[in-house]
Amino acid sequence: MQRSKKILLLSHCLLNANAKVERIALYQGALSALIVPLIERGYGFLQLPCPEMLYGGMARWGQVKEQYDTPFFRRHCEALLMPILDQIIDYRTHGYEIIGCIGVDGSPSCGIVKTCQGKWGGELSGNFDLQATIDSVESSDGQGVFMQIFEALLEKNGVDLSFYAIDESNPTASVQHILKEL
Ligand code: SF4
Repeated sequence: MQRSKKILLLSHCLLNANAKVERIALYQGALSALIVPLIERGYGFLQLPCPEMLYGGMARWGQVKEQYDTPFFRRHCEALLMPILDQIIDYRTHGYEIIGCIGVDGSPSCGIVKTCQGKWGGELSGNFDLQATIDSVESSDGQGVFMQIFEALLEKNGVDLSFYAIDESNPTASVQHILKEL
């Protein structure tokens, strides 16, 4: 059978929710409502690495964008993304179509148009006001750090890519939207 030569980039957890911070996964493994129709349409997938898992491991806390927006984390993202960029360039050179990238809105790392910000951080002891800290966390407009770095790398290398997002606050609507677009 002829291969489709159509490839989609996916945020890691869309194929493996186990990488998410404990207790926030909305589905068991892969987001089947999105992935199964895409498989049936002949797409192949390039799974992006999970920058948070590869930084803080499975015992990490949920963090906000301000905590990840550091020179250290940005460099970490860039190192993870270089082999992805190389693959994109090589696939394109050989006539493959990289259709786009699907990220995760609401994520401080993988958000496309929505991320997560707040005054989060510090030591959970003494007079730490946990409720005020939790209340400061909000969904806000903007990309996550990983996707910011990715877009900048693509631009620098003259690669044009469409970005889509699964919105964590309304996955069903965003799945339908993406499936209409693709
Ligand atoms: S960092 Fe990205 S890939 Fe990892 S769990 Fe968060 S949204 Fe998913």
